Amino acid sequence: MQVYIVHFGELGLKGRNRIFFVRQLVENIRAVLHDAEEANVSPFYSHILVKVSPDLPAEIIEARLGQVFGIAYFAPAMMTPAEFETISQAALQLAEGVVTSATTFKVDTTRGDKQFPVYSQDVDREIGARIVERTGAPVKLKDPDVTVSIQIYEDASYCFVRRLPGAGGLPVGVSGRVLTLFSGGIDSPVAAHMMLKRGCTLDLLHFHLLPNAELARASKIVDMARAVLAPHRLAAPLYLISAAPFETAMASVNTRVATVVFRRFIMHTAERLALQRKALALVTGESIGQVASQTLPNINMISQATTLPILRPLISYDKSEIVAAAQRIGTYEFSIQPYKDPCSIHARNPSTWANLDEVMRVETEIDVPTLLETTLRDYVDEVWINF
Ligand code: ATP
Ligand code: MG
Repeated sequence: MQVYIVHFGELGLKGRNRIFFVRQLVENIRAVLHDAEEANVSPFYSHILVKVSPDLPAEIIEARLGQVFGIAYFAPAMMTPAEFETISQAALQLAEGVVTSATTFKVDTTRGDKQFPVYSQDVDREIGARIVERTGAPVKLKDPDVTVSIQIYEDASYCFVRRLPGAGGLPVGVSGRVLTLFSGGIDSPVAAHMMLKRGCTLDLLHFHLLPNAELARASKIVDMARAVLAPHRLAAPLYLISAAPFETAMASVNTRVATVVFRRFIMHTAERLALQRKALALVTGESIGQVASQTLPNINMISQATTLPILRPLISYDKSEIVAAAQRIGTYEFSIQPYKDPCSIHARNPSTWANLDEVMRVETEIDVPTLLETTLRDYVDEVWINF
């Protein structure tokens, strides 16, 4: 079996929260190792122990663990019986792979089993001496190049030299549900990813201009939703909603606040679905000043359409930072594929400071309450993204 010791962040991990956090993280790690012939994931002292059968290559395991939120770092480990000579052999074998006369190192032993006959410091000293003898590497206790970690428990001991960075954040599922307004653009998939990072589960909502539900189901929006959710193997509903009734109503209206009115209409619709699904907040990919609809005055007016909190994880990000994040997450390629977003049709000379009276005039003219009921009744298609 391939063995990993998974360390999670300690912050805010008190009492019952901690048990809940660890249980969710264990479940999430199991989910990403679903296709191994055998995978044992269990809480183990102050960390999580992962054992995976050899059919799943180490690179794949490491790539997947590296994306699980809630992991601070993880270490591929050698498991041996808790017996001094065996531990020493394992430590030497691991050290020989990475320690040379040109690198400094130290041995860092912790004893989970205080009955173990050798004190931690004596293990450090004795095994350290053997590594020096074998490799010629000097010991350096402060900031060595390599730390040979040894953890000794009653029934086994673990030795590791590599620590791989985790994705940080909180385990998906510990923070509650949010409804993400998901467009075909670059920003909102990144916003969705960031909410997952803080432990939220997602519902997704997309307004489209396609002629029917079948075409919406075949669109890139579904691929993008999968790309965001797949690393976490998280099932989620995606609401594909036709903007046709709204667009028809707006066709004869002459105004510069159309984008703000549409964004407010999205908020009204989202609020209703969020209440049904017990989602506690809405999420957008907005960033101050990025486009005309995202000036502070317009963001203010859009926010007034709902009493739910609107979370905007990208609010302070530059476009170049968002693009870099999208490339890292793997949604960028989908985002730049051509797609006719409903927002694109309101683009002519939009107002950067929408006038409240004008917004109210337009909303009365198109009869938003009736449009909302029609849309919710006849134009919502729910697709489950599943793995
Ligand atoms: P994005 O790349 O996320 O589309 P953008 O820079 O194109 O962002 P806007 O088009 O102004 O910005 O949209 C701002 C936010 O409004 C989006 O991030 C998204 O959360 C929401 N939104 C925009 N269009 C839609 C849509 N068609 N369906 C659902 N939500 C949308
Ligand atoms: Mg957009």
